[in-house]
Amino acid sequence: MSQVFVVDSTKQPLNPVHPGRARLLLRHGKAAVYRRCPFTIILKRAVEQPSLHPLRIKVDPGSKTTGIALVNDASGEVVWAAELTHRGEQIKRDLDKRRAARRNRRQRKTRYRAPRFQNRRKRKGTLPPSLENRICNVVTWVCRLMRLCPITAISQELVRFDTQALERPDIEGVEYQHGQLSGYEVKEYLLLKWNHRCAYCDAREVPLELDHISPRSRNGSNRVSNLTLACTPCNQRKSNQDVREFLHEDPARLARVLAHMQAPLRDAAAVNATRWALYARIRALGLPVEGGSGGLTKYNRVMRRLDKTHWLDAVNVGRSTPASLIIKDIVPWHITAIGHGSRQMCRMDKYGFPRTGPKQHKRVRGFQTGDLVRAVVTSGTKQGTYVGKVAVRTRGSFNISTTQGVVTDIHHRFCVLIARSDGYTYQQGKEAVLPPTA
Ligand SMILES: [Zn+2]
Repeated sequence: MSQVFVVDSTKQPLNPVHPGRARLLLRHGKAAVYRRCPFTIILKRAVEQPSLHPLRIKVDPGSKTTGIALVNDASGEVVWAAELTHRGEQIKRDLDKRRAARRNRRQRKTRYRAPRFQNRRKRKGTLPPSLENRICNVVTWVCRLMRLCPITAISQELVRFDTQALERPDIEGVEYQHGQLSGYEVKEYLLLKWNHRCAYCDAREVPLELDHISPRSRNGSNRVSNLTLACTPCNQRKSNQDVREFLHEDPARLARVLAHMQAPLRDAAAVNATRWALYARIRALGLPVEGGSGGLTKYNRVMRRLDKTHWLDAVNVGRSTPASLIIKDIVPWHITAIGHGSRQMCRMDKYGFPRTGPKQHKRVRGFQTGDLVRAVVTSGTKQGTYVGKVAVRTRGSFNISTTQGVVTDIHHRFCVLIARSDGYTYQQGKEAVLPPTA
């Protein structure tokens, strides 16, 4: 079970407890609900000098989804897990739309408006808004969790593969063929370099095997530059042929493979710019931060026979991963970033002209779009109880999106606030298992 976070009356974080114990504390009036997501209770007394079991936050940053897990290093217990879905793509779309509307407006037959983007300067190290947002999401959640439970360390997957492991000559033997750690680093490197495809038939999402471009039996080297990825049929057909023999009927592909083989992948640091920026921000929080490589994560996960999910990847980040993990009945939270609404005052039509009147207030009758509400309607055609996200309307009758669908025109006097919108939506369960990448 994902555990319940506990803070005392001074909001000092205490050890998370089993949901059953939390229920008991709530029933006996010793605690109250402090936050719904992640579920946190607040004790009605202060605890002096509590004995705390230190936890570690583990993060596996991804471009679409980031896995987050809380692990007790001493016991190997996974306390809580979540998958955070970013809104980078949406931000890019919104900015593209705004740019188009502004350009359109400048070029209409009205007075001349000089473009403003050309006389703005960017600070050094500024990331594009879509990437910046991904970093901010993760930092927000690390900070939130630090306020709710005793965190003493952070682990973050920093690079896809460990360049040092690739460069050290002593690992360039048969080791990688026998599933040693360095083999995972090599495989991650090759997956990135060869774009997760078979080099000879472009097959994707099939198991890919290591292939020596110039075969070992003909004195081909064991260096990573001589390695590529091939699907099982291609690998068997190629057997111990040299690539020039194997591809003699397809000179175009041969040239491509040889050219790609020559070009080393750009430095890992450049590939992972966002991750290093995230690392710098997390380090500034003042806790010891451990970095890990994607190869190590995969090695840890495969050795412990775990599925490929974002949150399980997060659990396996870094060398600190306990030898035996206790993951019984953990149901990860699915957290989706939805932002805090739009600052645009008027909606536009497709020509960029205002379609609506300017929005007066974000908050209507104490409610804001995105708040979680419960509405108990006692009479009329809409009689019933509805729980869900509210979309406010200035006229005072709101729409509520429940699990059964959207209910329209519910008057604000029926609505009771359950939780304020905090820029994220939450859902527990519905485990998404990813297709294997290798
Ligand atoms: Zn193939």
